[in-house]
Amino acid sequence: MPTIWLDGKWYDRETAMVSVYDHGLLYGDGVFEGIRIYGGKLFRLAEHLERLYDSAQAVWMTIPLAREEMAAVTEEAVRRSGITEGYIRHIVTRGVGDLGLDPRKCPRPSIIIIVDTIKLWPEEVYETGLKVVTAGTPIPQRESLSPRVKSLNYLAHILAKIEGVQAGADEVLMLDSSGSVAEGSGQNIFIVKRGRIATPPPFAGILKGVTRDVVIELARGAGYEVQETMLNRYDVYTADEAFFTGTAAEVVAIRQVDGRLIGAGKSGPVTRDLRARFQALVRS
Ligand code: PMP
Repeated sequence: MPTIWLDGKWYDRETAMVSVYDHGLLYGDGVFEGIRIYGGKLFRLAEHLERLYDSAQAVWMTIPLAREEMAAVTEEAVRRSGITEGYIRHIVTRGVGDLGLDPRKCPRPSIIIIVDTIKLWPEEVYETGLKVVTAGTPIPQRESLSPRVKSLNYLAHILAKIEGVQAGADEVLMLDSSGSVAEGSGQNIFIVKRGRIATPPPFAGILKGVTRDVVIELARGAGYEVQETMLNRYDVYTADEAFFTGTAAEVVAIRQVDGRLIGAGKSGPVTRDLRARFQALVRS
């Protein structure tokens, strides 16, 4: 059953409420994480919590709970929920303040942990691949709001997602404001060309995905060459294979980008191999 921990108390979906004066709601002033539960175990909990605390640090926010306590209460939330295949959302908002921007009016950040399930696409998509279009909305400027911060400001990514929906696509490819390939609306992108794998580096203005890092590690361990390099749409259009990675998305093939079929127009051998390795790892 969905289980929610909010500032020290337990709730369910219907009873968990936040204040309308919470700056997370008023201004998107907060940070978050998403973690998978596989077979009752939390996948890469330490990495996700490290990113959560780093995101908070980057926006001058002190999470009023030590990392070990956060890990313990997260584990307890999963146990209480009884969910063994699911998804955890951590949210830390600036907390309740007044109607001004000033975070000094928010004495204490609020912590929310939601344990629930998630399913982005039907199972067959992992074989047929996603239809993707490039969004006109670029990712936010690197030096304005660092994409390394997983903040509650997701509007650019949501606008891009809506563009994809309007175009009848499954997902979108987001570029930076100079036209380099960045990421999906909530995924990192990889391409495969002549057996070599490439993905944009963190400095391209992407979120440094935990799944991305796991897939790079798995690929290198399996003997693939992986380059972290700037990519243009040309590189994606002419790739033999392309795929997205993400906590919710896992490893998912891309069939088509802006009307160009990618490779054979379905999940390719490298994508399939890496997906299988990823599935084996999360179950290990
Ligand atoms: N980019 C963005 C913008 C995201 O929201 C996500 C999902 N957290 C990712 C990439 C993938 O990151 P991860 O593998 O850590 O889920």
